[in-house]
Amino acid sequence: MDRAAIQASMKSNRRRDTKPELVLRHQLYASGFRGYRLQWKVPGHPDVSWPGKKVAIFVNGCFWHQCPYCKPPLPKTNVGFWTDKFAKNKARDRRVLRELRAMGWKTHVIWECQLQPKKIDRTLGRLLPKLAVELGRELRV
Ligand SMILES: [Zn+2]
Repeated sequence: MDRAAIQASMKSNRRRDTKPELVLRHQLYASGFRGYRLQWKVPGHPDVSWPGKKVAIFVNGCFWHQCPYCKPPLPKTNVGFWTDKFAKNKARDRRVLRELRAMGWKTHVIWECQLQPKKIDRTLGRLLPKLAVELGRELRV
C-alpha cells in the first residue's frame, strides 16, 4: 500500500458499505449466494453472514486490520499510538473468530487487497466452493 492508499482507507473507515465489502457482496449476489445479512449481532458483527447456516464473512481493511499479505507500513507519526491500536485490532479480530467458532460458526476472512481486480478471481475461486458446501447450495459457474 502506498501513502495515498493508506490515507484513503483512513478516510473511508465506516463500518458499513466500505468499497471492498460492496465488491464482495456484488460478487456473491451475482454467483447466486443471496439472502445474507449484514452486521449480524454476533461477536464481531460479520460484514456478511447467513445466520441460519452459521456462516460468516469478514471483509478486513488492510490498513486497520494490518493485512498479512500486503503488509501496509506503519504511519510515520504517532508510531506508539498506531502500534497499540493495531495490536488491539488484531487481538480483537482473533478473539471474535475464536468466539464465533466456539459458537459453531464457520468463518472466512477476506482482505481488501484480495478483492482487487487482479486478485479477485483467485479469491472467489477459493471462497465460493467452500460457501457452496457450507450453505448447501449449488455453485453457479
Ligand atoms: Zn492486504
